[in-house]
Amino acid sequence: MSTTFPASTIVGYPRIGANRELKRAVESFWAGRINSDELETIATNLRIDTYQRLKELGLTEDSAIPASFSYYDQVLDATFLLGAFPQRFRAQQKNTELEQYFLLARGEGAVAPLEMTKWFNTNYHYLVPEIAPDTPISYASNWPVQRFLEAKEAGFIVRPTIVGPLTYLLLSKPAADAPQDFQPVSRLDDVVNAYEALLADLAEAGVPWVQFDEPALTSDNLGVSVEQACDFVRHTYDRLGAVATRPHIVVTTPYGEARLAVEALAHTPVEAIHVDAVAGQYPSFADFAGKTLVAGVINGRNIWRSDLRATLESVRTLRDELPAGVALSVSTSTSLQHVPYTTSVEKWEDATLDHHLHLWLAFAEEKVREVVALAQGLHEGPQAIAEDLDIADQAQHTRASAPGVHKVDVRARVESLNEKDRDRGAYDVRREAQEKRLNLRLLPSTTIGSFPQTVEIRQARAAHARHELDDAAYQKAMRDEVTRVIRLQEELDIDVLVHGEPERNDMVQYFAELLDGFDVTRNGWVQSYGSRCTRPSILWGDVTRSAPMTVQWSTFAQSLTDRPVKGMLTGPVTILAWSFVREDLPIAHVADQVAFALRDEVRDLEEAGIAIIQVDEPALRELLPLRHAEQEEYLRWSVNSFRLATSGVRPDTQIHTHLCYSEFGEVIDAIDALDADVTSLEAARSHMEVLPAVEATGFERQIGPGIYDIHSPRVPTVEELTELLREAVQAVPAERVWVNPDCGLKTRNYEQVIASLTHMVEAGKAVRESLANS
Ligand code: GLN
Ligand code: ZN
Repeated sequence: MSTTFPASTIVGYPRIGANRELKRAVESFWAGRINSDELETIATNLRIDTYQRLKELGLTEDSAIPASFSYYDQVLDATFLLGAFPQRFRAQQKNTELEQYFLLARGEGAVAPLEMTKWFNTNYHYLVPEIAPDTPISYASNWPVQRFLEAKEAGFIVRPTIVGPLTYLLLSKPAADAPQDFQPVSRLDDVVNAYEALLADLAEAGVPWVQFDEPALTSDNLGVSVEQACDFVRHTYDRLGAVATRPHIVVTTPYGEARLAVEALAHTPVEAIHVDAVAGQYPSFADFAGKTLVAGVINGRNIWRSDLRATLESVRTLRDELPAGVALSVSTSTSLQHVPYTTSVEKWEDATLDHHLHLWLAFAEEKVREVVALAQGLHEGPQAIAEDLDIADQAQHTRASAPGVHKVDVRARVESLNEKDRDRGAYDVRREAQEKRLNLRLLPSTTIGSFPQTVEIRQARAAHARHELDDAAYQKAMRDEVTRVIRLQEELDIDVLVHGEPERNDMVQYFAELLDGFDVTRNGWVQSYGSRCTRPSILWGDVTRSAPMTVQWSTFAQSLTDRPVKGMLTGPVTILAWSFVREDLPIAHVADQVAFALRDEVRDLEEAGIAIIQVDEPALRELLPLRHAEQEEYLRWSVNSFRLATSGVRPDTQIHTHLCYSEFGEVIDAIDALDADVTSLEAARSHMEVLPAVEATGFERQIGPGIYDIHSPRVPTVEELTELLREAVQAVPAERVWVNPDCGLKTRNYEQVIASLTHMVEAGKAVRESLANS
């Protein structure tokens, strides 16, 4: 077995299965249709098939294939490795390890699952470990060893891949019973002890290389300074490096820039260090002698074929610049878990575009080929990969000239933008005009947009997509649903109604299918969390809107009622965040193109008589860069694009926006800068925590802190909702408060929604009356 690091590798690979086999198997297990053994058999086959495929794609060297499989989430896997179960899970003893594992992920009865939050600046969600001073931490499960041995038996020497000790603790939160100032990272030595035991065990199993992922080193949002992080790095990896018998260690730093931490790592005994060369930058290699630099040059986050010729040139230059004694390996910038499996199963409707997109795109399999080709080109010279270079060149050339990529009028419209286009004028004027037009009562109630997506709705949409249901029948089915939703809201006595969004498969894909410049995949699934997958759209060209996208639904809904119906749009930032976006134009420019299309839609809604238009930006927080230094620039273009989308209307048209994922801290000022007349926020679970922070910014417009937590099937009582609303009107003057749920209702069922909204409206009434009496 070789102990030099492989010349080409990847940081990680998708694990849901090329046809979402793991999703199906895991969900069958949850439903009790298969048992633990059956699930394990399916997962084993999936893992071995994946290794086989990666080998065929060229990862033939020992340790080139990362064992990055996970049943649910890689952070949960580390929690399991450490046996770091919060108190509430310790009382519950499950029969099998898998049942125990999923208990942490999904909870059961009164036992709440681990909280879920976004993984760095991606749309992947991990399960947040909860650590207290007395949380058990030990080498509790040897799953990395088992996976290695299972692979070895099938003929593959894979590289066990585990979340590193520092990232694990920096992503943890203090358990509810931890003392006030407790920091999970104070348990670093306990975690390192466990990893030492793991290393010894891996060595005994004959593992040549192990990978520790330390993406936390690319963020300065995790409560430690860069200097502290470097100290932790030295401490952790000096200790792990000192384990007498151990595999070689490679540490990865995906998602951003980690220069100082990487330089600190270079002083420790680890044998290889990965750098994200796409989002980050190379450190000084002065102290790298004897180590391997794993250059993450193929983008693991997007789906564009790499400019292979330029990339090869850059790695050749890099090799020439490396000091003597430093080896170079070629890799991806991040795990490929963020991209779909393969372009080969895709077929795009229009023949020219089909040809182009196949040339332009690289999903996970195609990216593995790029990595392998680069390593070959590096060692044998460009002529050895002439064919790959040729295809990559063609992709570059056709992308520059293909129809739809560059539309003169779209570019000109963006170029000629000025500040006035992003400005709605004084809020006082708007407020007065809107009050006059809408004449709403104190504490008006509304919802966030979607109503439950029933089985019938999904079936109708699927049948329509398969051409089994014709347009007219589909339209009728959806209109009937809109009618039901409007009647229901009237019965519930909600003030501002919605049409319920039954026609939308997904809040981004719906628009991507209607806008030019986008396309959607058939099988381009990417894991979002656990067994949940999304199919991001692809934004490849200049964006235009050929016809109104939502006007007929909103006007139909409005025709059914005298109460105002909100028009519903997805904002430019969220459309970009949940799509794969072209990289041949500055993102700020792309955002403005999307914003212009939305601006036209907003105007059409206004002209059709819609008085309130909501533009959702749930992903505003998600794209926030990991380094403070880059945040300002991001907030500038994101806020600007939202304002461009919403500033074309009259003062008496009311603009709403909606944001979720409670961590609003860093975007509080941006929320104000969006300048929406009404902003609804996720706030129920955090008990209105966000309100004082918003008020402290001098926010003067209206706000709807969600009082009904839609993420839980529980029906909240009138008392709970009243209490939350009371808290809200204590933090914000009642004239500026709206009554609404946390988020859209599409994942709930009608029974829950009707009961909860009834209680919500009653809570509004109770607080309104008590205000009138005081
Ligand atoms: N309008 C969308 C809905 O109600 C908003 C969804 C979201 O915030 N994620 O479904
Ligand atoms: Zn939401």
